[in-house]
Amino acid sequence: MSTALRTVLPRRVLDGFGRAGNVSCRHVAPRSIEELARVVESASREGMTVGFRGSGRSYGDASLNGRGVVVDTTALGRMLNWDPVNGIVDAEPGLTIEGLWRRTIEDGYWPAVVPGTMFPTLAGCVSMNIHGKNNFKVGPFGDHVLEIDLLKASGEIITCSRTKNPEIFHAAIGGFGLLGAVTRVRLKLKKVESGMLRVNAFYAKNLDHMFDIFEERLGDSDYLVGWVDSFASGDATGRGEVHQAHYLHEGEDPEGRASLHVERQGLPPTIMGFPRAHLWRFMRPFCNDPGWQFVSALKSFMAMLSDGKSYLQSHVAFAFLLDYVPNWRLAYGPTGFIQYQIFVPHETARETMKAILKLQQDRGLPNYLSVLKRHRPDPFLMTHALDGWSMAMDFRVTESNHEKLWKLTEEMSELIVGAGGKFYFAKDAVLRPRDVERAYETEKVDRFFALKKELDPNGLFETELARRIFGSRLDATATGTQKTESDARPYREKSDAPPSSEPIETRSTA
Ligand SMILES: Cc1cc2nc3c(=O)[nH]c(=O)nc-3n(C[C@H](O)[C@H](O)[C@H](O)COP(=O)(O)OP(=O)(O)OC[C@H]3O[C@@H](n4cnc5c(N)ncnc54)[C@H](O)[C@@H]3O)c2cc1C
Repeated sequence: MSTALRTVLPRRVLDGFGRAGNVSCRHVAPRSIEELARVVESASREGMTVGFRGSGRSYGDASLNGRGVVVDTTALGRMLNWDPVNGIVDAEPGLTIEGLWRRTIEDGYWPAVVPGTMFPTLAGCVSMNIHGKNNFKVGPFGDHVLEIDLLKASGEIITCSRTKNPEIFHAAIGGFGLLGAVTRVRLKLKKVESGMLRVNAFYAKNLDHMFDIFEERLGDSDYLVGWVDSFASGDATGRGEVHQAHYLHEGEDPEGRASLHVERQGLPPTIMGFPRAHLWRFMRPFCNDPGWQFVSALKSFMAMLSDGKSYLQSHVAFAFLLDYVPNWRLAYGPTGFIQYQIFVPHETARETMKAILKLQQDRGLPNYLSVLKRHRPDPFLMTHALDGWSMAMDFRVTESNHEKLWKLTEEMSELIVGAGGKFYFAKDAVLRPRDVERAYETEKVDRFFALKKELDPNGLFETELARRIFGSRLDATATGTQKTESDARPYREKSDAPPSSEPIETRSTA
């Protein structure tokens, strides 16, 4: 790329999945790793920062960079090698979880860790070190990564694993794309005997009951996840439903291996007669407090009726529940929503989470979707995981609640820091450096930034998220890049222009 990036790259308004903010960015989607390397080299020469973007499924500003270039890796989605004997895949960074399972399931392999949607890219999953509903049992995505290639700011590509460059391996996994570009991922998949899971549903009459259900079943579950009705109060605070799932052993699936066929994993084209593609329009009138309170009460009632039910469900249907309703995020309207996910140590989790739910109700800002999971610690430097519990919560953003909501998140963050908890940046749109400095061990953050200085001495790799949560730490590493561009605005101030891309989620899951 010989012409100046600043001249040739168009600006595009990009958003995070929650659509609560957006940023105009210089956008480029290289078609080869060599082209990606040339863009990074040109940006470095021109003193522009580079932020990476996979499928843009992080809820906030993790994949945005208004002050430089956004390098979109979705055109780099090839599977480079598949070893069906050992279940090991080598892939380009932009291969999606969907692209992966579609290719491997008929050989009897499923990704060991998946998020709640199948659209993220492998590099996006590596860079956020995502977790699944089985984090308590198998750890995060990074625990199943055998090797990555990382393009450094110098243009050199290094291979990192538990034995080659192990310190960089443990920092780049969950390193928010700040240490370099992930250009190849080698991943070990989970052997499965069936395309189905045995799922059991349990009604929880309040949050203590939900924690009890989890604890009784932790030793005997492959997956556990809880939905919490955030509108319930008093003795019913935290009521909801737990889903437990088990892999089937050989001989347990009445269909045998036929359920491993890709077609058996597809989500149905309609739900109760409605075409899935239009369901979000049906949800939209309910996306307000009274409407969602009604929906939550109904869901709680249905959960009570389903208590003790046991059924078989495909991997896709169980894992990617949120993909049932394509474009559901549009139901929140043009001002979008934020997700805020807290991680709290086991000892303080019950009381802290009850306090968090009560605080939201006291402030008149209950969230619309709370999901509870159990976690375990892992060896990655900037990990969000701990021996404890997480609750992910979706809050609708409106013109009128904006200030109040950001204040509520500050209050909640104080509670979380006080309880010894952490946050998850893939979901974040609100945290400040002071929250992060207190929640993460200083020694670990120091080590991360020392490594960044070594791998990226001029501070080439940056994102809106990084500038927001690391503040002056990032400035200290950035000596060779320009910090301002005349038309770059902070993420929180939403532009009037609509984002230029709405991801299409109806493609192949029907
Ligand atoms: C409906 C829904 C459900 C979800 N459920 C879960 C869940 O259960 N568990 C969970 O952990 N997460 C969950 N997530 C969050 C999601 O898994 C993460 O945000 C993931 O990182 C998104 O991947 P992506 O490809 O869209 O990456 P993006 O969001 O585009 O980017 C994520 C990060 O990766 C960096 N990055 C991307 N590509 C590269 C590269 N090649 N090299 C270096 N850095 C790179 C970006 O700079 C950014 O910091 C969910 C998201 C949605 C929308």
